[in-house]
Amino acid sequence: MAGKGTEGFLPPFKHFATSAIHAGQEPEKWNSGAVVPPISLSTTFKQRAPGEHAGYDYIRSGNPTRDCLEKAVAALDGAKYCLAYSSGLAALLNICHLLKTGDTVICMDDVYGGTNRYFQQVARENDLKVIFVDCTKPKCLEAAITPETKLVWLETPTNPTLKVIDIRACADVVRRHPGVLLAVDNSFMSAYFQRPLSLGADICMSSATKYMNGHSDVLMGLVSVNRDDLYERLKFLQNSLGAVPSPFDCFLVNRGLKTLHIRMKLHFQNGLAVAEFLEKHPRVEKVLYPGLPSHPQHEVTKKQCTGCPGMVTFYIKGNIKNASAFLKSLKVFTLAESLGGFESLAEHPAVMTHASVPEKERKTLGISDTLIRLSVGLEDEEDLLADLDQALEAAFK
Ligand SMILES: *Cc1c(COP(=O)(O)O)cnc(C)c1O
Repeated sequence: MAGKGTEGFLPPFKHFATSAIHAGQEPEKWNSGAVVPPISLSTTFKQRAPGEHAGYDYIRSGNPTRDCLEKAVAALDGAKYCLAYSSGLAALLNICHLLKTGDTVICMDDVYGGTNRYFQQVARENDLKVIFVDCTKPKCLEAAITPETKLVWLETPTNPTLKVIDIRACADVVRRHPGVLLAVDNSFMSAYFQRPLSLGADICMSSATKYMNGHSDVLMGLVSVNRDDLYERLKFLQNSLGAVPSPFDCFLVNRGLKTLHIRMKLHFQNGLAVAEFLEKHPRVEKVLYPGLPSHPQHEVTKKQCTGCPGMVTFYIKGNIKNASAFLKSLKVFTLAESLGGFESLAEHPAVMTHASVPEKERKTLGISDTLIRLSVGLEDEEDLLADLDQALEAAFK
């Protein structure tokens, strides 16, 4: 990885690019020898004799295009198996169906808004106990585990304050309690920068809507696992709950993966350039970026990741009016929710993505009215920096 400030991280995972391009693609699988996996739209498959078929019977249970994608993602996550879902939240729902009434989930206190809403307003209604714990301190996680604990849910880096959790340290804690599963939401890092399974997690989940697809045109969730028993149960649930992605979406994400390694390298380069620029800017109070030495968990980040994505969070000086004026003045960055696509986006968490988090909780988590979250895309660095510079000036006119 070239570039100042990008050294000191884990080396890239071996054979990553080759797997991204070839794993699961198998031209021999199609009669035509198609190098690009076709979009298989058939909902049903001809049987030779009742109950005798060539691996597929009905589209929900299995589909040739989805198979290609799942095999490719498994290879990239360093996993034995992967399962695809119609959204990231559908993936979360399937994982929670591994649990039973009365089981307890321990969730990182700072998670994606939709995950927070599911645990607080849906899972609890369905008789799961959910508690929120700051897992950047593994001791707090250890203290929170009870015999009822069945799932620990981590997200690292967190959204939007980009706290980093030491996955291996948490896995060591969870290992001491047989029967507890450790799941990590890997959406912000993607398989290119972080492999939770190799750090001791049981389940790696990602919203492919973000970096894995990377083109802001598909909603999808992915779950990778190594354990045969977990895979068998999740595969049964995938078919039983029915929240599977369409073959067209599988085709698009499979295509997106072909450039994942190239996109992530540039997201890192541009993200770091933006973070360094903002850190020196007189209109900026503070920058949060795990790739900067000033980040409190910079060392943990280098130990468990091969780099950092384009997610940069900062506090603008002044008040909510300056934050709003800044966002309205941007020209290259688009004011919009979501993240991880090739285009640069900016948003105001207190008013947009995290408005549903109660004000008091927002305050504890550091989500103030002057906090701004950027998803730095793949445009030219000089254009991105110039846009931020002019908007920061305009914000105080
Ligand atoms: C977007 C996102 C999700 C939810 O995924 P969807 O595909 O939108 O359902 C979950 N976790 C994180 C970290 C996300 O960014």
